[in-house]
Amino acid sequence: MNAHPLLDSLRRPIHDLRISVTDRCNFRCTYCMPKEMFGDDYAFLPESELLTFDEISRLTKLFVSLGVRKIRLTGGEPLMRRNLPELVAGIRSIGGVEDMGLTTNGAMLGQQAEPLYAAGLRRLNVSLDALEPERFGRMNGRGYRPEAILKHIDHAVQTGFEVKVNMVVQKGVNESEIVPMARYFKDRNIMLRFIEFMDAGNDNGWSYEKVVTKKEILERLQSAFALEALEPDYFGEVAQGYRYKDNQAKVGFITSVSESFCSSCTRARLSSNGKLYTCLFASDGFDLRALMRSGADDQTLLAAIRSVWEQRADRYSDERTEQTSRNRTKIGMSYIGG
Ligand code: SAM
Ligand code: SF4
Ligand code: SF4
Repeated sequence: MNAHPLLDSLRRPIHDLRISVTDRCNFRCTYCMPKEMFGDDYAFLPESELLTFDEISRLTKLFVSLGVRKIRLTGGEPLMRRNLPELVAGIRSIGGVEDMGLTTNGAMLGQQAEPLYAAGLRRLNVSLDALEPERFGRMNGRGYRPEAILKHIDHAVQTGFEVKVNMVVQKGVNESEIVPMARYFKDRNIMLRFIEFMDAGNDNGWSYEKVVTKKEILERLQSAFALEALEPDYFGEVAQGYRYKDNQAKVGFITSVSESFCSSCTRARLSSNGKLYTCLFASDGFDLRALMRSGADDQTLLAAIRSVWEQRADRYSDERTEQTSRNRTKIGMSYIGG
């Protein structure tokens, strides 16, 4: 940490930067980019509006100078961004970046695992919501089959990546997959993290009734496995971890709805067109791209980032109700980066 860490108005330091490298995706997950809203005529960002790799690297350096140590590349589907390994290598070379990961749906990982590894990436989170092909095909909105994703996960592990798997659990949709998914990844010693269904964006049909809480998921797991809780590895760790008592495999829970963790939220988000957001549920962001492209020097950019972070007061999940969720216009997950 810096001698004088940059703190927001609730005294939370800036520590993580999530960079969305594209707003496009080859999936249409019902909870994220439902195909009714993201149809063939949907206006994605033109290439000229995306931050270039040089712009992303320049901003990343500035964020690191303010205290950021962890970088996550996300999207949309980050593997759809051309020449991504070049960006990975650029970020890797920035002194002060202690950890870099990438979140992907895994569909394009077959061709890209090796070049990404060669560029210096070591950690992957792969999203997978079901093992049963029809269910997975419905959930991803494009009929993709799970076998290919599973094969890509094995391949990534063989390549040398540390892989975690993310599963969004929705009531009446994929609860029956909780134990089979846990067993599958336990046997391979891959950490599976259950994510509570969130009210991201404005169009994903969220309500409390559709959330399967950590408590419910844990009860199902405990009916099949013996588990022990783990201490958090660091301040602000998002997932609550557990270990199976009969092997070293772990599972985790991201409890954004039932046990919110805003008080330790140290994450800033940079959208693919260069807006800085200080919360996943933000309604608007600060346009760093416009400032940068108007010729601003590093000191001006730093002052802008500092000022945005110092004013930050977000604690959306702490305050969430169905009413506030309905009334708030939120930027979607696929745009802001999950
Ligand atoms: N396309 C990549 C992927 O799916 O891994 C990266 C971007 S995606 C927005 C990042 C993560 O957000 C994924 O693990 C996805 O499952 C999760 N996510 C998206 N919408 C969500 C929602 N409404 N509730 C909970 N998690 C969600
Ligand atoms: Fe695409 Fe990821 Fe959103 Fe699914 S969760 S639609 S894979 S961005
Ligand atoms: Fe952080 Fe916003 Fe999520 Fe709270 S709701 S944990 S402030 S991103």
